[in-house]
Amino acid sequence: YQTSTYTQEGVGQHKGYEYARGANPTRAALETCLAALENARFGLAFGSGMAAEAAVLNLLSSGDHVVSMEDLYGGTYRLFEKVLRRYGIEFTYVDAREPANVEAALQPNTRMVWVETPANPLLQLVDIAAVAGITKSRGIPLVVDSTFCSPYLQNPLDLGADIVVHSTTKYLGGHSDLIGGAAAMNDEVIYRTVKFHQNSVGGVPGPFDCWLVQRGIKTLALRMEAHCKNGMEVAGFLSGHPRVMAVYYPGLESHPQFELAKRQMRGFGGMLAFEMEGGLEAAKEVLSRTRILALAESLGGVESLIGHPATMSHVAMPPEERLSRGITDGLIRLSVGIEDVEDLIEDLGQAIG
Ligand code: PLP
Repeated sequence: YQTSTYTQEGVGQHKGYEYARGANPTRAALETCLAALENARFGLAFGSGMAAEAAVLNLLSSGDHVVSMEDLYGGTYRLFEKVLRRYGIEFTYVDAREPANVEAALQPNTRMVWVETPANPLLQLVDIAAVAGITKSRGIPLVVDSTFCSPYLQNPLDLGADIVVHSTTKYLGGHSDLIGGAAAMNDEVIYRTVKFHQNSVGGVPGPFDCWLVQRGIKTLALRMEAHCKNGMEVAGFLSGHPRVMAVYYPGLESHPQFELAKRQMRGFGGMLAFEMEGGLEAAKEVLSRTRILALAESLGGVESLIGHPATMSHVAMPPEERLSRGITDGLIRLSVGIEDVEDLIEDLGQAIG
């Protein structure tokens, strides 16, 4: 329904659709689908992942405190630090791989715990059930950004989270041809409050983009299987390469949270990061030499992308903050696509040298 408004049958008489910022049937279809994929009672679609995050964060008020984690998408960090801090909301970042660190950071005014798992860019995992065990008893909503998994690989609400958010730009859309976001939840009060803010602030997606996300979702299962298979093979190749100092991929037995990954995720996904020997210069060389892996922002599309967190996805983070979190200048992030994996490995091999 490519429309901004709907003719009404009479004054005060309509079919539930008045104006398309509030609701649109194409968006409603996507929201029903997103809720179903996350085993949620309610789903909401947004104009971007950041719009979804902002609407969820509108649950907070001045004076509230949020516990979040060190390994975090740079744009989320920017929203916390550069936007919401000005409104009097405080953030504490912990190493959330250890749930006790989340508990230790809680304050009397903590009104939200916000984690990403797997996190961007170092693929750290958070034990959702363990953290939910801490937040539930205190009535603090737990938000999980599950973008790296998509609902095909992980369902945070089933593990006890209160809200799951996604950038649908990524795996849900799947073809790098739209910007969108989503949130899903079971609690009706949370749903109504976030929906109220969605309409009040206005970060809604257009109907055509909603249709594109739905078309992408039709092949989500097939694509995710291919991402997981290719991700594993590329991670294996990089692990054995003498110029690669570390590989971060939850599917590798060497990943410190491999056991949690097996328990919490149905597959390990297509996102990985690796550390080049030789720092920035070596990383730059690799980034300039790949021919199939495209140097670009974003992730989760069918085509493989290569990126440099320090200067791209995490440029919003001050350098000292970045380094203290382990995002070095030699770190390279891959979004492994669904191409023939032999071609990807050959391309990486010639680029790394
Ligand atoms: N969350 C994660 C984990 C992301 O990687 C991104 C974007 O890269 C976002 C949220 C923001 O989504 P969008 O770019 O659709 O606003």
